[in-house]
Amino acid sequence: MAIVFVDSDLCIGCGLCTEICPEVFEMGDDGQAHVINEDECSELDCCAEASDSCPTEAIKFE
Ligand code: SF4
Repeated sequence: MAIVFVDSDLCIGCGLCTEICPEVFEMGDDGQAHVINEDECSELDCCAEASDSCPTEAIKFE
């Protein structure tokens, strides 16, 4: 199963992913998005949608 993560070199902290899929992404004190629930990503369409919508393509899967 693919593991979702946010590339901190690319994230500009726009917050879009946390609006699209708050079950998986949360803004951290560092101003960047973080994955809070990677297990949910494969279950939720919004996770892939957030990845597709990220303006800097910072949401990746490995
Ligand atoms: S949508 Fe992309 S750039 Fe914006 S906060 Fe999420 S990971 Fe960062």
